[in-house]
Amino acid sequence: MSAIDEVKQRTDIVEVVSQYTTLTKSGRTFRGLCPFHSEKHPSFFVYPEQGSWHCFGACATGGDVFSFIMKKENIDFGEALRLLAERAGVSLPTRLEPGAKREEKERLYQINEAAAQYFHDLLLNSKASEKARNYVADRSLSPDTVVRFKLGFSLNSWEALKQHLTDIGYTTDELLTAGLIKEGEGGKLHDYFRNRLMFPICDLKGNVTGFGARALDDSMPKYLNSPQTPVFNKSHTLYGINLATQAIREKDTAVIMEGYMDVITAHQNGFSNVIASMGTAVTEPQINTLKRLTKNIILALDADEAGEEAMLRCVGYENTLDAEVKVITLPKGKDPDDVIREDSTMWQQLLDKALPVIDYTFDMITAELDMTRARDKTLATDRLLPIIAEIKNPIRQAHYLQKLARLVNVDERRLEAELARLKPAPRRYRDKEPETKAAGQALRTMLSSPVEEYCLALLLQYPELKRYQPQPSPEHFENSENREIFTGWHQAGDLPALKSSLNPALWEHLDYLLDYLKKKEVPTNQIERRYADCVLNLRKKYLQSLEVRRSEIFALEVELGGAGADLAKLKEEGIEPSAQLLEVFRQTRRKAKSQGAKE
Ligand SMILES: [Zn+2]
Repeated sequence: MSAIDEVKQRTDIVEVVSQYTTLTKSGRTFRGLCPFHSEKHPSFFVYPEQGSWHCFGACATGGDVFSFIMKKENIDFGEALRLLAERAGVSLPTRLEPGAKREEKERLYQINEAAAQYFHDLLLNSKASEKARNYVADRSLSPDTVVRFKLGFSLNSWEALKQHLTDIGYTTDELLTAGLIKEGEGGKLHDYFRNRLMFPICDLKGNVTGFGARALDDSMPKYLNSPQTPVFNKSHTLYGINLATQAIREKDTAVIMEGYMDVITAHQNGFSNVIASMGTAVTEPQINTLKRLTKNIILALDADEAGEEAMLRCVGYENTLDAEVKVITLPKGKDPDDVIREDSTMWQQLLDKALPVIDYTFDMITAELDMTRARDKTLATDRLLPIIAEIKNPIRQAHYLQKLARLVNVDERRLEAELARLKPAPRRYRDKEPETKAAGQALRTMLSSPVEEYCLALLLQYPELKRYQPQPSPEHFENSENREIFTGWHQAGDLPALKSSLNPALWEHLDYLLDYLKKKEVPTNQIERRYADCVLNLRKKYLQSLEVRRSEIFALEVELGGAGADLAKLKEEGIEPSAQLLEVFRQTRRKAKSQGAKE
């Protein structure tokens, strides 16, 4: 995670803004008098879930926590970052550190690459790897696939890899750091992986970060992963991501499985948007990585592990993505690997029938119960309600509450009352312990935006687009990193100039954007059209989110002021409702009036 992401994650925007104006909670938002212009009626809103703010009054502007501090303190991005980092206890890279750190990482990638190549050559050519080659053949892996995934073999030896890598110039210290050798009894250094089929694990950019290794005899554990190193963290890693990125973007869906072999078989059979989670449970950092590529995620689960606990975790992922997660369950006793090898059309059918996680949970729970019996209705409610309570999106939550009410044939309002009892206290943003607060904030939708990033990636890759008209306005980039890079790029002549003008904390994000299109060349005659689409989409996204927020305000006004909510007052505040919203608003008022007349 970049330092900027860490600062964002550890910063509570409500707390920061509260230092400048008094905020009151209303629904999922906080509202107060605008700290930037003088007003009597509050038109300033903070959205903790998105980590953003907006003034619907005279300022008519908004952004994230960085742009708030920049505007309020009249400072640049770097200073705002420094201020917030200090507050959040995050240490920032200085202009020197990232270079040194990057060098260390580069060196580790090189060592891993050399080890992967060594294992790969052994698998292809060594007599000793016959058993491994047989295993690969048994699994029907093609020679192409073996090369594409660079599968390898580690000799049944204590020192073969160590010897090879030190021969070509790496030190034992470096090998220890890379997790390729370890200290045994009596301090003797020996190879970490022995007599195993080797799966190199890569990051998004294709750097080898570590290894997975399958035993070829009955050694335990059956699967062994690299230990944690400066470049390998199991819970942040998705196996196959380097080979799946393009397909995930193209199909706008990612399928998560469990094992290395599942991913490899899937790719070999043309399902290239498949990755593996490196263990049973998917983690939040993994979801955050995927979020940059797609919001549509399908989990392939073993029939016996798709329990309620797993479903609760899935709801957490849904909250992070602010989108539905779908699940497919596999026939009992089978891996995705088996299903795809036996019948890839059946696999496609399973994918097509993937169910939204909550619908799946309903099916799973009611399958064991007799819904005509009162006792079983109670059981179903007891088990489903806590899961529904975790859903953050109010529309999805209402949808499933209705579904449950129909299922158990109970008045929805009674379930609502029950749900309210289950929900966390409303002041949760302030009252949480620091640690659970950080976890909660990790769940919050971070401001990563594929549209913003694609647009910027194009602009960086094809500088001539800077002259294209119309350009997006900096406003349209809600994410401060993107906004900074966008305005910086318009002022800079070339990339080195841009880089030196940017705060070093932004370099990682810049690198990410520069890499974005590397594997996917845009045909020359399409560059302008794609950019035009992007600019339009950005504008649309901006206006839509404004519209959603405005409609929330209207709903709130109606709720708070009832029929007396004054339309003119809203207009005075500069809030221009859309024609549709106005109609809804008028209808609500008419309804309230006629009810009042009846009483
Ligand atoms: Zn304002």
